Amino acid sequence: IQNITKIRALEKMRSDFVANVSHELRTPLTSIKGFAETLKFVEDKNTRDKFLDIIYVESERLTRLINDILTLSELENKDYSANFEKININESLEEIYSIMEPAARNKGIKLIYEKYDKSLYIYGDRDKFKQMFINLIDNAIKYTPKDGKVEIIISLDNHMSRIDIKDNGIGISKEHISRLFERFYRVDKARSRSVGGTGLGLAIVKHILTIFNGSIDVKSESGKGTTFSVYLPCIDVKEV
Ligand code: ADP
Repeated sequence: IQNITKIRALEKMRSDFVANVSHELRTPLTSIKGFAETLKFVEDKNTRDKFLDIIYVESERLTRLINDILTLSELENKDYSANFEKININESLEEIYSIMEPAARNKGIKLIYEKYDKSLYIYGDRDKFKQMFINLIDNAIKYTPKDGKVEIIISLDNHMSRIDIKDNGIGISKEHISRLFERFYRVDKARSRSVGGTGLGLAIVKHILTIFNGSIDVKSESGKGTTFSVYLPCIDVKEV
């Protein structure tokens, strides 16, 4: 009986997800269609340019949505264990830092990364490791206003490697915290949309952590900032 209940719940989740996906895809598509149709009747150059900009922005949004949906579906269906390798956290995060630093700087945000004084190793898929931290750092940058600060902090916590992504941005109020990792859940839809969010970033992070046998913890205060702490089993520690 318990299994049947479980299967039913899974089926419901799946059909809710399909309904959500259709809705999320339809919104930009409707906009693209509408502006493209109207475009041929518009003679004013400024108005045409404005419409073309909207069509471009909405196409970008569709691309991001489709990429995130494909990523989630791959995470569900592919076996990643064949790609597992020993990852040096200091080295990998340094690489991620250099990928994300220009985006932070462009927005007037200081991205800070300090190498940990020991080399910590975890076991996992290198690309997925990267993707997880890119999503978290990208969020920290998105939800932190100009002149803010985002820090990447590594530590060893009870045989677990711990990586904190800490920002001093807009924060998240208590009642939202437990739902953040749900697909398409956004605290503020309009804000997420305006910064290019899809509502799938944290769902992807959560899924990668399941594959890595890790976990995540969120501490946040509205208006003060947010810290996401990622815990991964540490398989080796070396002095540097
Ligand atoms: P999105 O694409 O909307 O950013 P995510 O799944 O990545 O979707 O995140 C879900 C929601 O969690 C976001 O819409 C935002 O409301 C909130 N959120 C995530 N990270 C942060 C953060 N660092 N600071 C404040 N809010 C955040």
